[in-house]
Amino acid sequence: MKTLEGSIHNQQTYQRLVHYLSTNEVPTPCLLIDVQTVRERFAALRSALPDAEIFYAVKANPQPEVVRVLVELGASFDVASPGEIQLCLEQGATPDRISYGNTLKKRSDIAFAHEAGVRLFATDSTVDVANIAELAPGASVFCRLLVSSTSATQPFGRKFGCSGDMAVDVLTTAKRLGLDPVGLSFHVGSQHLSPEAWQEQIEESARVAAKLAAEDIPLRLLNLGGGFPASYQEKSPEIGMFGTAIGRCLDTHFGQAMPRLLIEPGRALVAEAGLLRTEVVNVSRRTYEDDVRWVYLDAGRYNGFAECEGEGIRYELRTEHDGKPVGPVVLAGPTCDGDDVMYQKHPYQLPVDLAAGDRVDVLGFGAYSTSFASVFFNGFAPLTALCIDDPGRAC
Ligand SMILES: *Cc1c(COP(=O)(O)O)cnc(C)c1O
Repeated sequence: MKTLEGSIHNQQTYQRLVHYLSTNEVPTPCLLIDVQTVRERFAALRSALPDAEIFYAVKANPQPEVVRVLVELGASFDVASPGEIQLCLEQGATPDRISYGNTLKKRSDIAFAHEAGVRLFATDSTVDVANIAELAPGASVFCRLLVSSTSATQPFGRKFGCSGDMAVDVLTTAKRLGLDPVGLSFHVGSQHLSPEAWQEQIEESARVAAKLAAEDIPLRLLNLGGGFPASYQEKSPEIGMFGTAIGRCLDTHFGQAMPRLLIEPGRALVAEAGLLRTEVVNVSRRTYEDDVRWVYLDAGRYNGFAECEGEGIRYELRTEHDGKPVGPVVLAGPTCDGDDVMYQKHPYQLPVDLAAGDRVDVLGFGAYSTSFASVFFNGFAPLTALCIDDPGRAC
C-alpha cells in the first residue's frame, strides 16, 4: 500500500498520508487531509490565474485547519451561511475577505453578515436585493447569472442565477436602493473537465455588461465561480490550461476594461489533499449464481460518500491486495438504508482476496465528503477528519 504504482495521484501526498496512518492508530472511517497539498494546489491556481483573487468555497471542506492554512496564504472566502462566516472569522479571516456567495439568505442571515462586517453579497432576485438594502445598507452586490450548460460532471441545474435581462433589473434595483452594484457572477457547474467551459458565460457576461453600461452601471467585478476540476480516477487537464483559455476569452471580451476578477474554487483546492481510510465490514453475494460481490465499507453515502450520487465522481481505491486478481464488485455503505450504495451501475474491479477487516483507502476524498456527512443516521457517527502537515504531523 506504500507505493502508488499506476496511479495518477500525487506520490508525495500519498506517502505523507500513509506514513501518518502507518505510525498512528486511527479509528476508521477517517478522512486524513494533507494541508501541504492544499498549499500546493493554491499556488497552482494562483499561477494559473494570476489576475484573479481566490475566494475558497468553504463548503468543499470546512475543516478549521484547512481554512486557517488558506488564511495564511492570503486567500479570501466564499461563504453560504452565518456558520461559515463564523468559521472563517475564527480562523483569522477578516470580514473584507469574505463574500456571501449564497443567493439564498434569510433576513436574519443578512443581518448577521452585516453585523460581522461582511460587505459583499451575491444575489439573483429583487426580493433578496431589497432585503440586503434594508439589512446591510450600502453593501456591494453582484448578480449571479443563470447557466444553462449541463456539461459539468456535477451541474448546478436551474437552482441559482437569473437571465441577463433580469440581472440588469436586479442591479438597477440595487443601485436605486442605495447598494453598490459591482458586477456579475456565474458558476459553470462543478468538476468541469473542459478549459473552454467558461467561454459561453464570459461572452454572456460581456453582453450583460454592455446593457448595464447603458444604465450607467459599469462592470467593476466579474466572479468566475468554481468548477475547476480535481483528478479522481483520471487525470484532469492541467489547471494552467484553464487559466490560458479563460484569460484569452477575457481579453477578447473585456480587453482594456478588465473588471476585478474573482474565482471561487472548492474541490480543486482540497479534493486531492484527502484520503479516506475505511475498513471492509463484509464481502458477500446475494445468490450462489451471482458473480458480482457486494463489498460493504464502514463509510457510505451518509458518512462521506455523498458525491457518489449518480456515480459521476469515481474515486480511486487502494487495497492491501492490489496487484492480485480482481473481480466485479458493488460498493456499498454500512447503514440499513437501501440507497446507501456507492457504485452499482458501473461496478468496480477489486481484488478477489478482499475480506472483512481489510483496509480500503479512497484517494482524492478531500472535497464534499465530511461537509456532506449526516449527523447520526442509523447511529453512525459523522465522518471524522484529521489534518496533517509536513512532515506528517497532525496539526
Ligand atoms: C460550491 C460553490 C463553489 C465551489 O465549486 P467547485 O466546483 O467545488 O469549485 C463556488 N461558488 C459557489 C457559489 C458555490 O456554491
